Amino acid sequence: MSEQIKSQGVADYFGCNVFNDTVMKERLPKNVYKSLKRTRELGTELDREIADIVANAMKDWAIEKGATHYTHWFQPMTNITAEKHDSFISPTSDGKVIMEFSGKELIKGEPDASSFPSGGLRSTFEARGYTAWDPTSCAFVKDNTLYIPTAFCSYSGEVLDKKTPLLRSMEVLSEQALRILRLFGNTTATRVVTTVGPEQEYFLVDKKLYEKRKDLIFSGRTLFGAKPPKGQEMEDHYFGSLKQRVADYMKELDEELWKLGVCAKTKHNEVAPAQHELAPIFSTSNIAADHNQLTMEMMKKIALKHGLVCLLHEKPFAGVNGSGKHNNWSMSTNDGQNLLDPGDSPMENVQFLTFLCAVIKGVHEYSDLLRLSVASAGNDHRLGANEAPPAIISIFLGDELTQVVESLESGEMIKSNEKKEFVINVKAIPNFPKDNTDRNRTSPFAFTGNKFEFRMLGSSDSISCANFILNTIIAEELCQFADRLEKADDFTAELNKIFRETIKEHKQIIFNGNNYSSEWVVEAAKRGLPNYTSTVDVLPQYIVEKNVKLFEKFKIFTEAEIHSRYEILLDNYSKTINIEALTMIEMARKEILPAVLEYTKFICDTMASKKAAGVATTVEEKLANKLSALTVSLEDAICVLESKVIEVKNISDALEMAKFYRNEVFAAMQSLRGVADELETMVSEKFWPFPTYSELLFNV
Ligand code: ADP
Ligand code: MG
Repeated sequence: MSEQIKSQGVADYFGCNVFNDTVMKERLPKNVYKSLKRTRELGTELDREIADIVANAMKDWAIEKGATHYTHWFQPMTNITAEKHDSFISPTSDGKVIMEFSGKELIKGEPDASSFPSGGLRSTFEARGYTAWDPTSCAFVKDNTLYIPTAFCSYSGEVLDKKTPLLRSMEVLSEQALRILRLFGNTTATRVVTTVGPEQEYFLVDKKLYEKRKDLIFSGRTLFGAKPPKGQEMEDHYFGSLKQRVADYMKELDEELWKLGVCAKTKHNEVAPAQHELAPIFSTSNIAADHNQLTMEMMKKIALKHGLVCLLHEKPFAGVNGSGKHNNWSMSTNDGQNLLDPGDSPMENVQFLTFLCAVIKGVHEYSDLLRLSVASAGNDHRLGANEAPPAIISIFLGDELTQVVESLESGEMIKSNEKKEFVINVKAIPNFPKDNTDRNRTSPFAFTGNKFEFRMLGSSDSISCANFILNTIIAEELCQFADRLEKADDFTAELNKIFRETIKEHKQIIFNGNNYSSEWVVEAAKRGLPNYTSTVDVLPQYIVEKNVKLFEKFKIFTEAEIHSRYEILLDNYSKTINIEALTMIEMARKEILPAVLEYTKFICDTMASKKAAGVATTVEEKLANKLSALTVSLEDAICVLESKVIEVKNISDALEMAKFYRNEVFAAMQSLRGVADELETMVSEKFWPFPTYSELLFNV
């Protein structure tokens, strides 16, 4: 009974801070509601005349929820969101104010864009930009402010954010997928949406300990730290029972997310100590992207209330698992059909195989773009390091589906009978197990029954990037298929041909084995699959001809916009390493070196008094000498890093600079860390200047 009351409670307050369909229906005149609903569902342009009415209703509702301000909420080329708050107040002649919010203010905002990364586009638009309401994602109230999800462009229309390309890619995918559906006789679907359910990993550390570590404060990860005696080797944390403090945190997080309409569903401990995960129920890509940004923000905010800090960095601790974000992705029609569900009838199966082939071909042909969509300095510590998932992109289909797909290559798998119904010469598909539990956890791109799980995203990534790239790639392949099939005299024969060719030319992207093994690296090279082990290696792929053409074809980006993105990503990489290097130098000079000297002095003082008392000092001498020698190495390593950080300033080319950061600065950081971590194991705890891994990982 009490359980029932509790669950009713959630149902009562779920989405209470969201201007959602129910609220719209309640508060808008019928015709306005209908017009807005059409816009929201079909992506049609919003009737300007109704904007004033919607704005006013939104304002009244928000004020009742305690809002005094509104903000256009957008996603610039950082991984976080941006907002500028304006109050609703408008002065009246009698020295008072009224609360106002116009349709114009709802539809368009004009934040000063000059301080956001623009990658060279800035000069062309003189720092002016505007935000445009995305009516497909609901407005909400948070912290006494009405948040309006928007896209962000320059005045001359150049894209400056992550949301615009995502929205555009959803449009083009819908258009191309509908062409395919029509060919299969579907006359009812009017839109295909991409759906995403991002599983978010994170670490929690004690706030008091966090505050003592400059590296965590400035770079989000530990730049020093010797291995603790216990790590994740006992595998006792994964799905383990939640500690009270963590449970309280997760409870509040769920509640706050539910109020904002985020369907937080699953929560559990992850593999590494102090690591956890939250997964929502999937939704339409752009809403999933907005909700994931909100989730990350709330994770950080609520942690502070519990005396914790939430780390979203991909690799906060060396030697223990990093954090990623699994991007579960599918396509579905607005009449509710999941296009990656094999279905029950031969007809549905053939249609499924068509979409599956588009994914296989797309992922193979554009694996560089997919790799690029998840590239960052932080994620380099996972991808390509000895960790999940590897930097090589391959697709896991499972044995059964692989068999089906392989048989497509061999002959006339699809026939149509007299009634023009499809007949498949494969038995397996209609009974294809949807609860395919025997999943390959090592695959970067795995089919999991009725969706693909792209597992390479970093925990701090915006999911927009991976998804607009994925959508665009699949749109391209569907477009190629549709071009051929629409022209074909014999649809079935042409489809067979497409299947045969696709599998023949692209089956090397399918790999069901262990992606972490060294054999796979060798095998993948034989298959000609690229292995971009670092961000610096893969970023130049953004501007190669085939990729520029792809984005231009579907009007996702102009060439100038692609170049600007490339510049921003390079710049971001270099800046990240630079901050880390400077932080290391500061910590090493101002904290570690003095601590080691102090400890050495303490040993020498002990030695002196022992000597005076005529007691043997073998241990002290040995220790002091070793510490002295390591102190020299430490000082040397600091000097090398300092000189590299100065040297890099002479490089003007952005790619060369990023390469220098990768090959020289980062290498010098690793050397410095090596010496410092060795010293940590020798210096007394009382003297070590900041909390160790043991304290950070096992103290929540
Ligand atoms: P895992 O075993 O990897 O934790 P789950 O089965 O718990 O995976 O689901 C992971 C995510 O996949 C959830 O967020 C879920 O909502 C999402 N998901 C399920 N179906 C779809 C779909 N059709 N499109 C996108 N995401 C989906
Ligand atoms: Mg998963």
